[in-house]
Amino acid sequence: MDMHLTGNMTINQGESVMRFNTILLHGASIAKYPGREILPPISQVSAFRYESMEELEKVFLHKSMGYAYTRIGNPTITAFEQRLAELEGGGSAVCCSSGMSAITAALLAVCSSGDEIIAASGLYGGTIDLLRDLEKLGIHTVFAEQLTKEAVEELAGERTRVIFGELISNPAQRVLDVPALSAAAHERGIPLFVDATTATPYIARPLALGADVVIHSTSKYLNGGGNAIGGVIVDGLSFPWDVRKHTALADFEKYKKRAFSVRLRTDIWENIGGCLAPVNAFLNYIGLDTLGLRMERINQNADRLAHALKEIDGITVDYLTLENHPYHAYVDRYLGGHGGGILTIRAGSKERAFRIINALKYALIASNIGDLRTLVIHPASTLYIHSTKEEMEAAGVYDDTIRVSVGIEDAEDLIADFTQAISSGNE
Ligand SMILES: *Cc1c(COP(=O)(O)O)cnc(C)c1O
Repeated sequence: MDMHLTGNMTINQGESVMRFNTILLHGASIAKYPGREILPPISQVSAFRYESMEELEKVFLHKSMGYAYTRIGNPTITAFEQRLAELEGGGSAVCCSSGMSAITAALLAVCSSGDEIIAASGLYGGTIDLLRDLEKLGIHTVFAEQLTKEAVEELAGERTRVIFGELISNPAQRVLDVPALSAAAHERGIPLFVDATTATPYIARPLALGADVVIHSTSKYLNGGGNAIGGVIVDGLSFPWDVRKHTALADFEKYKKRAFSVRLRTDIWENIGGCLAPVNAFLNYIGLDTLGLRMERINQNADRLAHALKEIDGITVDYLTLENHPYHAYVDRYLGGHGGGILTIRAGSKERAFRIINALKYALIASNIGDLRTLVIHPASTLYIHSTKEEMEAAGVYDDTIRVSVGIEDAEDLIADFTQAISSGNE
C-alpha cells in the first residue's frame, strides 16, 4: 500500500489506484452490514443483550468480539472510527463526545501530575482554557510563540511528555512543519500530537508527515453540515513508548507501540465517559461522505474570495494562498496546494468590523467553522473574551479582526456580498 503524503491521497491496490473521493466511498473501512444496509444502522441503544452469562463474560474478558455497553463501544461508532483511521492512515481511532473531549482524553492518557506539555501559544481558545485547567492537576504547559523545531530544542526538558500543536491554526493560519518538529521531538523521546481539525485529511495527513497522534473536532469539516458535535483521536501506532519516561503508561508496557491507544480506550476514555452518541456518529459518518467535494469547493472559494478582497482598499486580508502570507511556502510543501477554509479580514476598527459583519447577506453570524454555509464572527468579543490581549495577539486575533469560515456557496455571490458589506461598512 503506497500512500502519498498530502491532500491528493491515493491507495494502490494491485493494478487499480483509489483516489481520495473513491477511498471515502469504497475504502477498506467501508463495512458490509448484516441487514445489507448501505449505511451503518444507528444502534441507538445503551446496552447489548446476550443469550448466556458465559457469552457476556467472554466479551468482558476480551476473549470474544462484541459490544456490551455504548460508553465502551457501539457498532455505529465503530463504523465512523474505522473510516477515520483509514483516512488518516492510522492504526487505531477512538471517537469522543466532542473535540475538547478528544484533546482532554489524549493529554490525560499520556501525562501524569508533574509532567509537562509544550504547546503552540496560538491554539484554539477552548484548548488554552483546558491547558489552564490541567495546571490545577499538576500538568504544566510551556507555550512556544511559534511551535518550531528550534522551540522544541530550547524548551524540551526532563519532564516534557508531549508536544501539541494545530496543523493549521485558527484564525492565525500558522502551519506546523511536522517533519522537522517530529524529528526534534523523537530525538528526545517525545511524541508529537497534532490537532488537524482545520486541515482535514483532504489537505494533509499528519501521521504520514511524522506526527504520532492526530486529533480532530469532527464537529467542523468532517461533519460539514453543522449538525453534530464529535471528536476523534487517531494513533499511528508507531511511537516507541518508554514507560520509564511516560510513567502514565506504566501499566500498559506490554502493549509496546499500542500502549497509548490501549490506555486511552480501556482506561482514560472509558472512565471519563466522553463517548460519542450513536446518532452523532451516524450524522458525522454521512457528513464524511462528501468531505472531498466540500473541501475542494471550500478551498477554491476561500482562495478566490481572498484574492478578490485583497484588491479592496482600507482592509487587509490574511489567507495562506496569498503570495505575501508568511506560511505560503508550506502550502505546496505540506498542504497539497490548498489553503483551507479560514480567512481573516482586518477592518481597521472594531466598529467597522461589526458594521461589515452586520451588512453581510449570506454569511451567518455564528461561532463555528467548517459548515457548508459561510460563517463569520468577531473573535475578540466572543471566542477570546476570556483571553488577555497578549494571548489574543498570539492567536492572530486583533480588535478589528473578522474571521470567515468559507462555505460552498457560489464564489461570485460570496465576493459580491463581502464587497458590498465592506463598502457599506465605510459609512
Ligand atoms: C472546534 C475546535 C476544537 C474543539 O472541538 P469541539 O468539537 O467544539 O469540542 C478543538 N480544536 C480546534 C482546532 C477546533 O476548531
